Amino acid sequence: MKVYLNGQLVDKEKAVVSVFDHGLLYGDGVFEGIRAYNGRVFKLPEHLDRLFNSARAIMLEVPMSKKALEEAVIATLRANKLRDAYIRLVVTRGEGDLGLDPQKCEKATVFIITDKIALYPQEFYDKGLSVITSSVKRNISEALSPSIKSLNYLNNVLAKAEASRQNAPEAIMLNREGYVAECTGDNIFVVKENTLVTPPTWAGALEGITRNIVMDIARNKLKLLVKEEVFTPYHVYVGDEVFLTGTAAEVVPVTTVDGRMVGDGKPGKMTLKLMKEFRELTRLSGVPIYEGST
Ligand code: PMP
Repeated sequence: MKVYLNGQLVDKEKAVVSVFDHGLLYGDGVFEGIRAYNGRVFKLPEHLDRLFNSARAIMLEVPMSKKALEEAVIATLRANKLRDAYIRLVVTRGEGDLGLDPQKCEKATVFIITDKIALYPQEFYDKGLSVITSSVKRNISEALSPSIKSLNYLNNVLAKAEASRQNAPEAIMLNREGYVAECTGDNIFVVKENTLVTPPTWAGALEGITRNIVMDIARNKLKLLVKEEVFTPYHVYVGDEVFLTGTAAEVVPVTTVDGRMVGDGKPGKMTLKLMKEFRELTRLSGVPIYEGST
């Protein structure tokens, strides 16, 4: 396997960063999780825009243009002969000293890992997920905005660990006020009377690329009402349907929340439609990796 590291494609074993890299020492950096389907990178410009916004928010200078990063992603996929892949694009603050000061870090580290995608089990899509509400609150925006896709994921890791201990694949994270924010690596939607509701980003949700696509499909193709509104766990319990969205998960139904059955306990009608429409889009769009990928 070849990994892109600071301008070069190197063997996996040689893809190493310094122990003085502030990405490692302080979680000081930003990243994206991207997917390629059938020889095309899905929503690559949107992911690059979000990466640059995250970097800007933490005053990190990405040492490459969007165009150069796009080319590096494509080159890495080609080097690994991948058509369907998970892509991890990471920009860290780079090597510094043992102090916190990011100004001591001269140059950001950029690496891109491309690998076969570890898909969620089909059962999740057929039967739906069981999720729990985590006791770990989502980071408050005034401290570390959940809109920044930073390398500091300990908040999410702790919630995920709580879910794992209860055999749940995902956990709902609430914000400080007790409103639903998002899950550890996915956004959340509730369907009630033909209306889709998802928390606004200011309530502590990442502006998920999948979330945005699903809102667009729901509004413009399925002609559903879509609202960005805060809601509590109660509204999740009494929703007609609940589903999660994310690059890895795509659109995945939720059928149990904190031990309560959602709706009739089966993936909902809207969820199934959105799953289908989303899959269709992944097949038909994206930046081609190889010549002749149309
Ligand atoms: N929330 C969090 C905390 C995430 O890490 C992710 C995955 N990047 C998402 C939501 C979903 O975002 P996207 O659809 O862009 O993958």
